[in-house]
Amino acid sequence: MKNQQFVVIGLGRFGSSLALELMDLGYEVLGVDRNEEVVDEMSNFLTYAVVADATDEDMLRSLGIRNFDCGIVAIGDDIQMSILAAILLKEMGIRQVVAKAISVLHGRALEKLGVDRVIFPERDMGIRVAHQLVTPNLLDYIELSKDYSIVELTVPAALDGKTIGEVNARSRFGCSIVAVQKPGGCLIAPTSLDLMNTNDIMVVIGNNNSIHDFETAID
Ligand code: ADP
Repeated sequence: MKNQQFVVIGLGRFGSSLALELMDLGYEVLGVDRNEEVVDEMSNFLTYAVVADATDEDMLRSLGIRNFDCGIVAIGDDIQMSILAAILLKEMGIRQVVAKAISVLHGRALEKLGVDRVIFPERDMGIRVAHQLVTPNLLDYIELSKDYSIVELTVPAALDGKTIGEVNARSRFGCSIVAVQKPGGCLIAPTSLDLMNTNDIMVVIGNNNSIHDFETAID
């Protein structure tokens, strides 16, 4: 077991998937939900699973919540409960509090309470899927800032057998291929002589416009 400990409040679709993934990654996870059925279902898969109301301060204290490294408020639909749970986690002094928001206003309220990271799973997934739909080679992307991103693209047939130097993304488009994932392993910081083949995955960093021009040119 890795030594970071997580408490997930609310084991709905988002909370349970997050909790299970953290377990898979080797972390200890306490799951809390007021619904007994949900807790029963999850109890075999989490380090601990407890039936409790996240607004019951005494109960949270008795669970030793303040000793956890990170608390995630995964209650979405019930904004009032989400906010109360976030206040309690912050007051208890958990080092990092993360909360899911279902609307911009909900997110703003959580930020004002000092929640360290507010996430908008539905909104972010909608944006991600839209990008993937209009860019068929796009597997994933990370926004570094408003203008810069890192994207993962499958190498299209048009680039099969070409070297990084021949593709010349940096001079032609202003973005850089910083890694190429091949069936045998990952080439980090590839040189201009390294070859790419269809279905390899290239990791490209750059300005969003440059990346868009590159994606369009190779499609
Ligand atoms: P999702 O959309 O991810 O399924 P929901 O908001 O529908 O999220 O579900 C959140 C979960 O949080 C539910 O399982 C619900 O029982 C639980 N929950 C809601 N309010 C509280 C609370 N005050 N204390 C503990 N668990 C709660």
